[in-house]
Amino acid sequence: MAQRSFRAQQLQQLGEDPPEAEPDAARSEIHMALQAAARSALRDIDAALRRIRRGNYGRCPTCGDALSVERLRAVPMTSHCERCQRAAANAAAAAPKRRTAADTPSRHPREEGASHDD
Ligand SMILES: [Zn+2]
Repeated sequence: MAQRSFRAQQLQQLGEDPPEAEPDAARSEIHMALQAAARSALRDIDAALRRIRRGNYGRCPTCGDALSVERLRAVPMTSHCERCQRAAANAAAAAPKRRTAADTPSRHPREEGASHDD
C-alpha cells in the first residue's frame, strides 16, 4: 500500500500528466500513438470539411481531376486521386531511406553460419 501512495504522490508531482495516465512506458507510448492518430484523423476530417466548404471536395489538388465516387466512398477523407497518391507513395519509397516491407529482410536466426564453440 505504501507503493501505491508513493506512486500517487509521484503522479501528483509530475503534474503535467493527467491522473489516468499510465505509468508504464509501453502503455503511455500507445496512449501517445492513439492521441497522434486521433489528432491526424481530426486533421483529415477538418481538411475534408474545409474542402467541402470551398467547394473543391472530391477534387485532387495535384492534378485537378475529380476523384472517383468509389474512391471517395472507400476513403472519404482522401484529398488526392489514386494516381497522385500512388505517385507520392512511390516517390516516398524511392526516397533515400528506403523502407518498404518487401525490402526489410525477415529476421532469421543464422544457425548455419553461426560458430558456436565456447
Ligand atoms: Zn491527382
